[in-house]
Amino acid sequence: MENIVIIGSGCAGLTAAIYAARANLKPVVLDGHEPGGQLSLTTHVENFPGFPEGIMGPELIENMRKQAQKFGAEFKAGSVTEVDVTGHPFKVIAGKDVYETKALIVASGAFARLLELKGERELIGHGVSTCATCDGYFFRGKPIAVVGGGDSAMEEANFLSRYASKVYLIHRRNEFRASKIMIDRVLANPKIEIVTPYIVGEIKAPAGLVTGIRVEHAVSHESKDIELDGVFVAIGHIPNSVAFRGKLDMDKNGYLIPRHGTLTKIPGVF
Ligand code: NAP
Repeated sequence: MENIVIIGSGCAGLTAAIYAARANLKPVVLDGHEPGGQLSLTTHVENFPGFPEGIMGPELIENMRKQAQKFGAEFKAGSVTEVDVTGHPFKVIAGKDVYETKALIVASGAFARLLELKGERELIGHGVSTCATCDGYFFRGKPIAVVGGGDSAMEEANFLSRYASKVYLIHRRNEFRASKIMIDRVLANPKIEIVTPYIVGEIKAPAGLVTGIRVEHAVSHESKDIELDGVFVAIGHIPNSVAFRGKLDMDKNGYLIPRHGTLTKIPGVF
């Protein structure tokens, strides 16, 4: 029987682990399918307090992990496939492993949806990004593309236009899902060129660094090449909350809805 099981090993899970371990609760942290979470996928982190020279995402998360381990947090590999929070103790099932615990902290985060193009995942940190605030600075004076038609894409396009020489906003339809105010800001931005209705068919990176993309017209299927240095994929996030469907309150997108800060409707599940 564990005192606390923490689901997720990103910043939130590791922060919880540091505090729980320092309270002598010997927390068990379940790594999940992406140990270290989204931070492990990014490059330089320049906006985390305490690192004036910046720090690489994987190094920062590794430091947090060591810090939690130092105080007695125990890490277990595996992704949660099922939870039973109907009675005490709670049960957390990760493949063949079953954990019984008095309390549960859900810090399972979300992952950025990708276009699922060949080489896209490997190019994260080498011209492909899912985080404008993390990576925009590295594209100063360079042309880039933002893919998507929602509020995230609009926000990222506007934000990135501060750095980039030009921003291509590429969306598969002529209509945008984003709110009007966000669209208007983009339309009024002279650095942003709207490329619709186009689908990104290929990311070019002959030497392992993005040099351009090939886009295809959604109706005529005619394709064209765009030379650029960065592709920001902003087509939504997917929360890792499937195991809690029907068990904890969540919004229509699958994000858990906490009460009074970090409580859920089940006492002992945070
Ligand atoms: P979203 O609203 O779900 O929009 C995702 C966009 O990506 C859509 O335009 C969608 O195209 C496109 N897309 C999805 N899958 C794609 C694929 N495989 N290939 C190409 N395009 C694809 O996601 P979001 O923009 O991340 O926003 C999520 C939520 O956060 C929304 O409720 C949004 O309002 C909110 N948000 C608010 C703000 C703000 O107010 N400042 C900022 C960011 C986000 P289709 O339209 O054709 O489906």
